[in-house]
Amino acid sequence: MEPARVLVVNSGSSSIKYQLLDPDSGKVAASGLVERIGEGGGAIEHTAGEHTVTDQVDIPDHTAGLRLAFAKFADTGQDLTTAGITAVGHRVVHGGEVFYRPTRIDDRVLRTITELSTLAPLHNPANIRGIEAVRTLLPDVPQVAVFDTAFFHGLPEAAKTYAIDRQIAEAHGIRRYGFHGTSHEYVSGRVAEFLGRAPGSLNQIVFHLGNGASVSALRGGSPVDTSMGLTPLEGLVMGTRSGDLDPGIILHLMRTAHLDIDGIDRLLNRGSGLRGMAGVNDFRELRRRIESGDPAARSAYDVYVHRLRHYLGAYLIELGGVDAITFTAGVGENNAEVRADALAGLHRFGIAVDPELNTAADRGARRISPAGAEVQVLVVPTNEELAIARAAVAVTGND
Ligand code: AMP
Repeated sequence: MEPARVLVVNSGSSSIKYQLLDPDSGKVAASGLVERIGEGGGAIEHTAGEHTVTDQVDIPDHTAGLRLAFAKFADTGQDLTTAGITAVGHRVVHGGEVFYRPTRIDDRVLRTITELSTLAPLHNPANIRGIEAVRTLLPDVPQVAVFDTAFFHGLPEAAKTYAIDRQIAEAHGIRRYGFHGTSHEYVSGRVAEFLGRAPGSLNQIVFHLGNGASVSALRGGSPVDTSMGLTPLEGLVMGTRSGDLDPGIILHLMRTAHLDIDGIDRLLNRGSGLRGMAGVNDFRELRRRIESGDPAARSAYDVYVHRLRHYLGAYLIELGGVDAITFTAGVGENNAEVRADALAGLHRFGIAVDPELNTAADRGARRISPAGAEVQVLVVPTNEELAIARAAVAVTGND
């Protein structure tokens, strides 16, 4: 029997990431990235098996970008219009209070995702453009939205409530929603599998450290706290985002630096975090600069680690003890130094990292705490595409 095939689409404001995969085995048939949509000088990189093709061509909009990707599929012998795709899964950033399960997309759902754009003005409109492009090119294939916020829908009141005027909060949907939920759910599930334990029996802390970064605390498989809030700006120090701030800084900047909303948005979302402090957002370049004696790079690293430990401490207490602490995503999976520094000197809490296990060349799910340690410290690669593909199949299979 032909393996099932799901196309997963992650559509950004000027880019589309896609993957065609088998949701059972996780085997990827092809994947790619379309960049600089609508900006001139567009580009595509498409990989099928061992072969990667690249192309530079102007791409006016998302439909044109997806059409280009489909052409690359066809060039490598995979005509998507006849490939028997069972579902298309879309990453959608904000599901608000409305969507907390993977949801089959129809006109009404699309309208609601559009309405939720007030909560995610940069992300939801971009996700919608991806959905519309697929609808044009694959009109008969069921499409499913998988929301980045969904996993955190049931956060306890105390964790999700901001201490502001309740009426204003309710009128404007202001609460902590949390993001990277697909990754936190997938990774925490893999942790339970790896440890051979029922998810319900574990207290976990999961650090998703990529260019965007967040941490979650889970009791018995359910999240009880997470570091991102109304938007993905809150919490940890990120590649280009500030994470936590005194909100008074915004007022101060408006009054004294005369920054308007767009200026503040740019500053906090694109010009802060590692990039704002050290001039670079890639951890490998940050490391090179630290080694060359750059004090700004050193300081940025220290702030980054300080914030990780701040949340670790908070979540340890919230959970009243933890069974597993896990690192995932680009930095979490690849940077042994960050893992070691985040957990340094915590022996009295049963938390330790074994230097050899931590720096081993292994790329799969692995333990990095010493044998017999009270708390399991793990590295577990995330796979949001696979989680989205499985969710899409689960929803369309029930139609
Ligand atoms: P993500 O958003 O999960 O793709 O993570 C992107 C970030 O991961 C990059 O900005 C890098 O700083 C970091 N990263 C990726 N690969 C490596 C690596 N091999 N070593 C250290 N950091 C890495």
